[in-house]
Amino acid sequence: MNPLFANQPTSIFEHMSALARDAGAINLGQGFPDFGWPDDVIAHAADALRSGSNQYPPMRGLGELREAVAAHYRRHQGLAVDAEQVTITSGATEALASSLLALIEPGDEVVLFQPLYDAYLPLVRRAGGVPRLVRLTPPGWRITEAALAEAFTDRTRLVLFNNPHNPTARLFDAEELALLARFCVAHDAIALTDEVWEHLVFDGLRHIPLASLPGMADRTVKVGSAGKIFSMTGWKVGWTVAPQPISVAIAKAHQFVTFSTPPNLQSAVAYGLGKSETYFDNMRSGFQQTRDHLRAGLEARDFRILPAEGSYFLCVDLAESGIAVDDMAFCELAVRQAGVAAIPLSAFFAENPVRSVVRLCFAKQQATLDEAMLRLDQARDRVAR
Ligand code: PMP
Ligand code: GLN
Repeated sequence: MNPLFANQPTSIFEHMSALARDAGAINLGQGFPDFGWPDDVIAHAADALRSGSNQYPPMRGLGELREAVAAHYRRHQGLAVDAEQVTITSGATEALASSLLALIEPGDEVVLFQPLYDAYLPLVRRAGGVPRLVRLTPPGWRITEAALAEAFTDRTRLVLFNNPHNPTARLFDAEELALLARFCVAHDAIALTDEVWEHLVFDGLRHIPLASLPGMADRTVKVGSAGKIFSMTGWKVGWTVAPQPISVAIAKAHQFVTFSTPPNLQSAVAYGLGKSETYFDNMRSGFQQTRDHLRAGLEARDFRILPAEGSYFLCVDLAESGIAVDDMAFCELAVRQAGVAAIPLSAFFAENPVRSVVRLCFAKQQATLDEAMLRLDQARDRVAR
């Protein structure tokens, strides 16, 4: 057995969701919405199941979807990309795995930012990469020049960068992006950019793809996911968009990982990506409303909330909220004794974890959030006793 995987704990999302199921708790842990999916996209998938092909689609994805992904980014983000640069994968997770397998050789250094999405480190290590961790800290979670200067070396091959960022809910700003781009260019590094939350950005802020910065178009792999764009996290249709030679290498890895992705879902996603601006605006504002509802309700109860600019998540600072236990202890107590599941941020650190912050998923109907807030209050009371 490979100890890299055999010794891994079960993902914190699985762990907390299982506890929530056992306890009959409200699950604000794992990030998935309980509303918001577009009926017409589902109808398209159902039609495609009945009337379309149920056989292997082309390895790199249906032509119509590859074209739709490229057109979507031309229209929404002004990126000069074409279908030849797109590879369809089974979710963003597979896009990341195939990209890392294709782009890293054993011993290559990979710059990563903590807190980090759970899949990153095991995938980088399994591909032979040597992680170089940049540690971000609350409340600002800012990327600094000093931190990048320490992490980048002459062996840096790739930087794995998530924006908007899970779990902190930060949207890194233009200054931080410019800094990171400058380091990528200076070190001739590839940027693997996980932008699955690109459409879930609030308060009129705009997501800037790293690929759009000077010098980045020919060194950036952009990863996206239909699961987030259409509020259906179980769909697992993702993609990479990359310059030609890189794209070919990723496809070569992808052909031995999953080879292809269900054609019916691909067809529905191709249809959905062409939906009007209004659809995307409404989707965003629906989730912004639930964010505002949870944030306002928690603040009224004297919980301290960190800025939440993107994704389905907002973070609570426990110490500042008068909760004198660490994040893991609070989450265990909250799910078992108060019936509400959250995610401890320490689970997203490989070393030297921040232990005073928990992540909540706000993508739920208001009645669910109202009940969850009562239970979070009860959890805090239990800690105080
Ligand atoms: N990257 C990030 C940052 C995520 O938050 C998620 C899912 N929440 C994924 C990747 C995985 O996406 P998918 O379900 O498409 O594999
Ligand atoms: N991406 C989801 C989250 O951050 C979890 C996905 C999973 O369970 N692997 O909550």
